[in-house]
Amino acid sequence: MKFSGTNVLVTGASRGIGAEIAKTLAGFGLKVWINYRSGLEAAEAVKAEIEAAGGQAAIIKADVTDEDQFNAVIKTIIDSDGELSYLVNNAGITRDKLALRMSVEDFNAVITANLTSAFIGCKGALKVMGKKRFGSIVNISSIVGEMGNPGQTNYSASKGGLNAMTKSFAKEAAARGIRYNAITPGFIQTDMTDELKDEVKAEYERNIPLSRFGKPSEVAEAVAFLLSDHSSYITGEILKVNGGLYV
Ligand code: NAP
Repeated sequence: MKFSGTNVLVTGASRGIGAEIAKTLAGFGLKVWINYRSGLEAAEAVKAEIEAAGGQAAIIKADVTDEDQFNAVIKTIIDSDGELSYLVNNAGITRDKLALRMSVEDFNAVITANLTSAFIGCKGALKVMGKKRFGSIVNISSIVGEMGNPGQTNYSASKGGLNAMTKSFAKEAAARGIRYNAITPGFIQTDMTDELKDEVKAEYERNIPLSRFGKPSEVAEAVAFLLSDHSSYITGEILKVNGGLYV
């Protein structure tokens, strides 16, 4: 895949989908900044794997819900590399509960982790990418933001908001040559879905036309496409990667 840019920041890249995105993008020749919050050893392992394969990577700690910490990450990258070409807002959490039992604190925690953090990243990227009039951002959203899900009023609101916010950023930033897109994965095999009970997983699988959960690499390939030169005329798009579960 062809990339005119040189480097990428992937948030929450120490494990799961984020780690796979980091490895895939490094495989395409980008220098990858692996953001982690708590998993230093896991982040170091991702970096080591990338370097063993001949790629370039750096790790950087930050809680991306904290504006100062997120902006400091972007500043570190600019000080080091002179530019930031690409950003993947991947960090996210769930705090599932039926709405009647969900506290406002549980609601706000998920909005802050999944939506506000992406706002900080999208805004910070716009500032630095605007100067070069080049850049591409991919927000990792969710199928649940499109179709809703019982027990996930907080999560669905955060991801539905992320889809809408992506379109607004796309419209604001297009004149500066910066593209914003989102991906809405269905059910993907990671720690997040490992939490589901086996009978719940089996029920989901019965309803997925491709009859299985997706692999993190199948999300990562779609991210690479949306960042790359091959999608140069695509902005404000919400790309489904869900095995046909919601079409
Ligand atoms: P995961 O295995 O739980 O990993 C989440 C990652 O995000 C972890 O590295 C975590 O770091 C990081 N993170 C969370 N809050 C953070 C913060 N405030 N600052 C920095 N890093 C933070 O989840 P996943 O399944 O890979 O999900 C990745 C993304 O895909 C999420 O946005 C999720 O909503 C979305 N998604 C997942 C699925 C799925 O089926 N798995 C489906 C649709 C969408 P720590 O190690 O410090 O916790």
